[in-house]
Amino acid sequence: MTTPHYRGRFAPSPTGYLHLGSLLTAVGSFLHARHHQGEWLVRIEDLDTPRNVQGASVAILDTLTQLGMSWDKEVWYQSQRVAHYETALEALTAQQLTYPCACPRRLTAGQIYSGYCCLHPPAPQSAQAIRLKVPAKNFSLTDEIQGFYSQNLAEQVGDFVLKRRDGIIAYQLAVVVDDAAQGITHVVRGADLLDNTPRQCYLQQLFAFPTPHYAHLPMIVDSQGLKLSKQNHAPAVNPQPAVPLILQALTLLGQSPPDFLKNSDLNHCWEWAIANWDSCKVPVLHQLSADIS
Ligand SMILES: [Zn+2]
Repeated sequence: MTTPHYRGRFAPSPTGYLHLGSLLTAVGSFLHARHHQGEWLVRIEDLDTPRNVQGASVAILDTLTQLGMSWDKEVWYQSQRVAHYETALEALTAQQLTYPCACPRRLTAGQIYSGYCCLHPPAPQSAQAIRLKVPAKNFSLTDEIQGFYSQNLAEQVGDFVLKRRDGIIAYQLAVVVDDAAQGITHVVRGADLLDNTPRQCYLQQLFAFPTPHYAHLPMIVDSQGLKLSKQNHAPAVNPQPAVPLILQALTLLGQSPPDFLKNSDLNHCWEWAIANWDSCKVPVLHQLSADIS
């Protein structure tokens, strides 16, 4: 596998249609890639099957197409790659880096896991999660937009889940395996994932995968400060007409598109945006309020 100078990706979950928040991530990752003459791939992160919405993958890809955002190579679906994640998990288990955990989720959700099941191995049963042991060590990165970020995995995160008790492979493992398998060099995504990144850096080290360059874009919140999501009924973006929507995304990303673009066609809009993309102008915020009506 040859690594290109730049290969980025947009990796939506089909838990709903594209809303303004996920559109911003699509536009930001697309422009960052194209400005650097890079490739831009699309990966559908559809492992969390209970949350998938029927038809959402097709609708997301159709919206991107209508907006003039064309991707390179075939779209990957994580649901078709489970065997690769299981192989990666087995490699960690063979190194005694994992252990089964039978703690009920209600006792562990939102907390730093105590490591109870590492010290008290549960009797084999069907519903067990698999956790990764983490070292009491700082994992740091310099994010292109958010700057220096560091986490002590043992103190701030705890041994984290690689496979859920319902048998579903966790996001952390799948994203690391796929970014490496696809030769991703640049990850541009929402700032809600910044605090997941040290975990992913640790997994990359364990597998001897390269760590990509990271840029975390601000998240859009509604007037109550809630992240836009299907759960809080963020409206799906309407891709027609495309130009005003792209201009809105550019403005939110701090790119100050000139007025004359309002009267131009979609191709000219993208030409301007690709040529003038400047990640230094993206607001250094985790949250950005936007009128989403
Ligand atoms: Zn446990």
